[in-house]
Order: sequence, then C-alpha cells, then structure tokens
Amino acid sequence: MLHKSKSTNIQHLQKIAVLGLGRSGLAALRLAVSNHITTYVFDDNKEKVPEEFRKLYAHYSDWPWDGLDAVVFSPGIPTYLPEPHPASLLSAKFKVPIISDIELVIRLQPASKWIVITGTNGKSTTTALTAHILRSSGKAVAVGGNLGTSMAVLNSPGVDGYRVVELSSYQLEITPSLNPDISAILNLSPDHLDRHGSMANYAAAKAEAVRNVKPNGLIILGNGANLLPLLPARYKCQLHLISKDDAPDGIHQNFALSGSHNAENAAVAATICRYVGIKEEQIKTAILSFKGLPHRLELVASCDIAGNQLRIINDSKATNDAAAARALSSFQQIFWCAGGLAKEPSLPNCIKELRQVKHAYLYGNSKKQFQSELSGLIPTTLAENLEDATSKAFAAAKKLTLQDGVDSFVLLSPAAASFDTFANFEERGRQFTDLAKKLCQQQPPYVETL
Ligand code: ADP
Repeated sequence: MLHKSKSTNIQHLQKIAVLGLGRSGLAALRLAVSNHITTYVFDDNKEKVPEEFRKLYAHYSDWPWDGLDAVVFSPGIPTYLPEPHPASLLSAKFKVPIISDIELVIRLQPASKWIVITGTNGKSTTTALTAHILRSSGKAVAVGGNLGTSMAVLNSPGVDGYRVVELSSYQLEITPSLNPDISAILNLSPDHLDRHGSMANYAAAKAEAVRNVKPNGLIILGNGANLLPLLPARYKCQLHLISKDDAPDGIHQNFALSGSHNAENAAVAATICRYVGIKEEQIKTAILSFKGLPHRLELVASCDIAGNQLRIINDSKATNDAAAARALSSFQQIFWCAGGLAKEPSLPNCIKELRQVKHAYLYGNSKKQFQSELSGLIPTTLAENLEDATSKAFAAAKKLTLQDGVDSFVLLSPAAASFDTFANFEERGRQFTDLAKKLCQQQPPYVETL
C-alpha cells in the first residue's frame, strides 16, 4: 500500500512539484501554471521540458520540500514498489502528498459530473463506449484519463456535462479527493503485482474508485464475486450488480463489440447511460455506430479464400492471461499468436478457452514457458519473432480454409506485455497490422480455381 503518513486534506495548492513529463505530467504542469501555482518540475530527460517551462526545472532533491503542498507523480513512477522513487521517500519524510493529474483537475477545474471506470480489463473500451453513447445522445462530454488524453488538458464539459474517466490502479492510489457521481469496477484479476506487492494491495487500490461516491450516485460492479469485498463498509448511493440482462440491444450486430467480455463492457456502459436518463433506443443507435478502439479485437485485414473469410484480428492490448482468454472465446478456427513478457507464471484462463484454437504460434521471452503450459493441449510452434509467428499462422489458417471450406481467424492476443521487443502494445499492434495487410494483399483470387 502507498504510505498513508501524509495529510491529503490540503484545501489550497500554492506550491507544487511535478515529477515525470509524460502526457499526464505535462498536462498537470500546464494546468498548475495557468492557475498561478508556483511549480517545480523534474524529468530524467530535461529535453522533455518545453522551452517556456525550462526555468521551472529543478532536480527533486533541490525542491523546497518543506513548503510543497503536493507532488504530482506520473502514474508510471513507482511510489513504493518495486523500488520507491527517491522523491517518494522525500514526500514521506516531509509529509507532502503524492497526487495525480486527475486530483489536480478535481481541485482546480470547475465542477461537472464525474463517471469513473476501472477494472483489470475492459476499462478503455467501456470508457470510450460510455462517452460515445453520451455524446451521441447530445450530452457534453470530456473523456480521458488512462485512456490516453490527460483530463488536465480537456476543457470542462460544464456543470451538467460529464467527465468520463478511465482510472488505473496507480492513478486511483493518488487521487484522494475522488468523489464521483457514478463509478464502475468491471473485473479484478492479478495484474501489476510488481507495483502493488500483493493482490490485496491491488484490490485496495481499485476499491478507491467506489470509496466515496456521491450519496445520490451509483456504484456499478461487474459480475465477478471477488468485486463485492471492494465495496466500502458504508455507502449511501445505489449499487447495481451487472447481469446478462443489462447488455443493450445491438451488440451482436457490431463486430467491434464481439465476445462475451464486450457484452459485459457494453452492459456497464448502458447501465451508466440509463442512470443518467438516456433512452434505450438512443443507446442502441450509439452501440451500432461504435467503431471500437485500435488494438482491442480489431479486425485489421481479411481475405476471401474461395468464398470463405480469413480474418486477422489485432488484440495487442491483451497483455494478460484473463484478457487473452476472452479473445480466444470470441472466434472459431483460431490460429493464435502469443508471447512477450509474461506477467503471470501461468495461463489458467487461456487454458480453459482452447476449444477453438487450432494451433498456437509462440514468440518472445515467454515462448518456452507458454509452450510448456500448452503442451499436450494444442499443437504449438516456436517462432523467431512476431513476424514469423504471424506468417506461419496465416499460412496454416489459409490451408485450413482452403481444405475444409471454413472461415478462420489469425489472432494476435499475446497474454503478455510487449516490452521485451516493442516500445509498447501499440507498436506491437501496428507491426502486426502492417504485416496482416501485406499478407492479405498478396493473396491471389482463389475463386476461379474452384
Ligand atoms: P484496459 O483498458 O482495461 O486494458 P481494454 O478495453 O483496452 O481494457 O481491453 C484490453 C484487452 O482486454 C482487450 O484486448 C480484450 O482482449 C480484453 N478485454 C476487454 N474487455 C474485457 C473484459 N470485460 N473482461 C476481460 N477481458 C477484457
């Protein structure tokens, strides 16, 4: 757990510091400066500090710690595990709260309605879908957080508008003033344990999302029994537990919402929207026009092989076992590309979903580990790298489609992080997508051969 030795009750921010100048740090810096807060900033890479803020640059050991009201940490900077950043130790020593860019927005920007979405998997999809339905229904919306755009760069949607925010466990730990109107926890399975130390700590961070929902607000929990213990001991707002009946009409007509996991995501988005008064018909219309997000069960190429379809799906965002298992349950005749930097010692959920998997092509650091787990269950091939795995999977899918006259799927759903080879999951997904498109373009028209 993050050390709690610090007061989180500061009313006024007069002097703060910002550590880490990624997207959220930069946004926090700009917001603080525009609110006339005296601000100090540090990043290992000084080049990241824009010219106009260079005079604010100072090493964290030189910050006036005894006069700081707060220090804004980028979510990627460890506060206690695996190794606390030295600035975290200084913050504990001087009792300076560590806060997020979201906390700054809550304190500094005009009020609006807050909708918070968290969980281990499905956060981004649910956040984007909720914002899409609200917008399509004419509501003013600012959407961001862990999804990509820092809330601190977005204009206020107004008192009656909605801030729809995806929050990670790291952000939740450092956003003490969170007081949302609606808060949803989708699911909970082991993830980021290197940073949290234990499942209990990870769960406690997620529980922050529902700790302080407004009395006339709503808590939504996905359908995992392990979510109930996250509820606070006392709460005045309503509680809604997601069931199959909550899924809105239209999901089965939208490929971008394939799979039972997306039905759950859509159920949560629809429940949020119903609560704020959006009509069922409007929800359905918006569901049909939702484009999905890149790298999440994204159909990136397809080819017609003698009248049958070979589809290539990029699910690079599936960086853990639970997420990849959902992808495996969403298609048939799957040629599965998986591997990278494994987060967990095993693949218990994927192993339960191998019915439609014809063959696994394993690459990256985890390939031997994954192979030994899957051995005896499905055929596996060790590939040189992602490109090799994809080409081999494509050749095998094509062969099956031609021979048996069935549709098939080449699926990248790695069940592992990308950092062994790629800068991030987006780069991995882009490489896969480029290759998928090339492979499909190279296909001759098979129709005349039959
Ligand atoms: P997050 O933002 O929580 O990482 P995303 O919406 O980006 O979630 O989806 C990440 C991956 O998790 C997807 O590629 C998909 O395979 C899987 N996924 C999406 N929704 C769910 C869900 N409700 N339960 C389990 N896995 C899911």
